Amino acid sequence: RNRKERGKKQRECSNVKISVVKTTTPRVKPDQNNLGFGRFFTDHMFIMDYAEDLGWHDARIIPYGPFPMDPACAVMHYGQAVFEGMKAYRSPEGKILLFRPEQNMARLNRSNQRMSIPQFDEDFALQAITQLVALDRDWIPEAPGTALYLRPFVFATDSVLGVRASSTYRFMVILSPVGPYYQEGLNPVSIWVEPHYIRAVRGGTGYAKAAGNYAGSLLAQKNAQAKGYSQVLWLDGLERKYVEEVGAMNVFFNIGGVLITPDLGDSILPGITRDSVLTLLRSWDIPTEERDLEVAEIFRAHAEGRLVEAFGCGTAAVISPIGRLGWKDQAIEIGGGKIGAISQRLYDTVTGIQTGRLEDPFGWVLELDN
Ligand SMILES: *Cc1c(COP(=O)(O)O)cnc(C)c1O
Repeated sequence: RNRKERGKKQRECSNVKISVVKTTTPRVKPDQNNLGFGRFFTDHMFIMDYAEDLGWHDARIIPYGPFPMDPACAVMHYGQAVFEGMKAYRSPEGKILLFRPEQNMARLNRSNQRMSIPQFDEDFALQAITQLVALDRDWIPEAPGTALYLRPFVFATDSVLGVRASSTYRFMVILSPVGPYYQEGLNPVSIWVEPHYIRAVRGGTGYAKAAGNYAGSLLAQKNAQAKGYSQVLWLDGLERKYVEEVGAMNVFFNIGGVLITPDLGDSILPGITRDSVLTLLRSWDIPTEERDLEVAEIFRAHAEGRLVEAFGCGTAAVISPIGRLGWKDQAIEIGGGKIGAISQRLYDTVTGIQTGRLEDPFGWVLELDN
């Protein structure tokens, strides 16, 4: 192997030691039964910085809080930023569990690659995350449906105006105790098929968890809410004909007993929940298809009485049943406004494995040893 190849494979991390400064003013913990989503943060956060000459360096855990930023900071002008979302759970035996966290680290590096942000050492970052979670372990809520949400993110920090990749970056992890994503719980939500705006397009940044993707989605989301829908169903950017995702979730339709989800191109975020759902369905011998799916096919299946259930899936809500779908001047009800049998089974199984209440046949759960 030549040097160039080696350099590409190698992930930069010049300082593997993490310094820890503990808070002297612990925060008051919120009411576990009224957490909402992403509103409360724990006592500590993880930071490491990148510079071209130092690589990733100065890894540290410090008290949670604001930090100064230069008004010229690149991320605030050109949006060079990516993030992840994952959860830590407490098992009935009091163990701390993470769900497929190495997948989140790998995806964060793929997002970095797309946004011209340097690669980081995935094992080291995961080690830092487990150390942070262990330090703030008393913040992991225990009420049913709750978890500790972990938010790793990376952003550009050069204080220079000019459209180019930054030469310095910051990697951070913050933690938030969360309740169920939807106030309504597992009740089906209504979804608006967005006919005009698109989330992502071939050759774009849709497969990356890039901050700007979400900024661009807000207007359609707001318009859908004004119409009485809770989320939008995104269509493909070329023909606005094929289903892509629902809000910030992947999407499945049960048509005549076959669970259909759009196949991954570069405009769809490769969800870890999506992958887990497909693995479970296959293990249950339920037929699945990853393929192009036209909205028209869904409405046709409904008219023929073959549309059995539909749901979105992602870390935040796990499984979110779709009870109503509005498209142009039509609206259809799915599953009589109730959660479908397969949706319920998937929710129970995924959350059961995540929280250590069910066996983990696929080796998905990482148990922290402290
Ligand atoms: C995060 C995300 C998902 C779900 O991914 P998970 O790994 O299952 O949490 C799906 N779509 C979009 C656009 C997302 O940002």
